[in-house]
Amino acid sequence: MLSETKQLLDLQQADVRLLDLIVHLDRLADHRCQLEDRIAQERANVASLRDALQRSDLESRARNLEVDELDMHIRAYQDRLDKGIISFKEMEDLRVKIVSEKVRIGRLEDEALDLMATVEAARAHLAQAQSDLVPREEHLQAQVAAAMRETRETEEGSLAQLRNERVALASAMAPYLLAQYEALRATLSNPVAAVQHGTCGGCKIRVSANTAERVRAGREIVTCEHCSRILFVL
Ligand SMILES: [Zn+2]
Repeated sequence: MLSETKQLLDLQQADVRLLDLIVHLDRLADHRCQLEDRIAQERANVASLRDALQRSDLESRARNLEVDELDMHIRAYQDRLDKGIISFKEMEDLRVKIVSEKVRIGRLEDEALDLMATVEAARAHLAQAQSDLVPREEHLQAQVAAAMRETRETEEGSLAQLRNERVALASAMAPYLLAQYEALRATLSNPVAAVQHGTCGGCKIRVSANTAERVRAGREIVTCEHCSRILFVL
């Protein structure tokens, strides 16, 4: 094999490994985004439970206030009735009013009790969710930290090393050959391909006998007449 072909193959191998690493880093970044979304979602769930509790609590207080106010009114009506300084007609009206308001306060009291039970249930639900959130968030944050650590180690370690290797390989090559390789690489992931059984390993099309023979002879850089890939024999 021509030494130039060997250089091209080494460069191609470095590029394949670089691409693999970049894909790996992209996956790590996606994974980290998903974890951060999950943390935000878990926090939002707790926040919505907190809001629900606040709403129930306000409603419950309002209903209790309504009960207290109605109770005061009923007492005032009763007081006027007991003092008896009003007409018989007014007394009758007050008695009717007191009966209907007592029915209403009974209903309001039931509602107030239901609301208080709802508040207590919401408070317990929130407390549980808050205590569940702590270990869950710790677990997710640990995974985020691990993804960040792996990203940093990959970038500073194998990625930096591979980039240096590629620079060394590229600078050792003849500029025209490097340019030819880079031009092919702009559209092809494997600019260098093996000829096997007379067929280009890149485009899978049969090369001419002359091309196959020139590749076998290994005296010059030969390209596929169909896809322009640089050819070699194993
Ligand atoms: Zn080809």
